[in-house]
Amino acid sequence: MCQLFQEIHQNHVKLMGQQLKVDLSQEEGDQQLLASQAKELVKKIRSAGRKIRNASQRQRLESYTLYWSRFIAEVTSEYLDVLLCEPEEPLLQTEEVEEKPAKTQDLGKPLEIEKAFQPPLSFNPSPVSKLLKYACPKGDYVWYKRQVGEPIPNCPTHNIPLEQVQP
Ligand SMILES: [Zn+2]
Repeated sequence: MCQLFQEIHQNHVKLMGQQLKVDLSQEEGDQQLLASQAKELVKKIRSAGRKIRNASQRQRLESYTLYWSRFIAEVTSEYLDVLLCEPEEPLLQTEEVEEKPAKTQDLGKPLEIEKAFQPPLSFNPSPVSKLLKYACPKGDYVWYKRQVGEPIPNCPTHNIPLEQVQP
């Protein structure tokens, strides 16, 4: 059982015991004192309505506030509000609803934009000076080696091997 309810219930029972004694003594000072204690209890019960949702416990609490408000009215002519406070708002999961659309948007767009602005990969021409240069020793023919492993031809005129020369 709810601890808060238990506490209030015990408080209520204790005050009822005191009320019995006050009735016997018929002392007005005792009645005033009890009435002020009862007012505290009614306040406590009403605010406990925020925490206690159980319907049968709420009914019990309301019967306690009614009981003590009658007593208080007899002694002090004050009429207290006896309604319990409403329970605190139930936990709604509103936060989760809004987040989902944002996630799907993150996926492609920034990447696609980056791709679009990248310069085309094409064409990184090696300057002719970096190619290996070969020439006929007789000076009539020049040939450039463009690929690694490409066989070096003979001079088409003299049919002799070309020699590598520094560009
Ligand atoms: Zn030649």
